[in-house]
Amino acid sequence: MMYLKECPKCHGDLNTGEDIHGRYVSCLQCGYLRDLPEENSHPLAGKTFVIDAPKTAKKRQKKVRQAA
Ligand SMILES: [Zn+2]
Repeated sequence: MMYLKECPKCHGDLNTGEDIHGRYVSCLQCGYLRDLPEENSHPLAGKTFVIDAPKTAKKRQKKVRQAA
């Protein structure tokens, strides 16, 4: 999968890959490399989603144990 113009260094194109250490994104233009968290395969997930919903907080505490 590719993310066009998402490189924080040169705004080049990021390409996702996987090795023994896990998933990562690398920039095709400048070689920028960044590891991806296991449960978050999308590199922008942390930036774009706000997981603070007071109404569903109680439900989520029971179901999701690995969040923290
Ligand atoms: Zn780059």
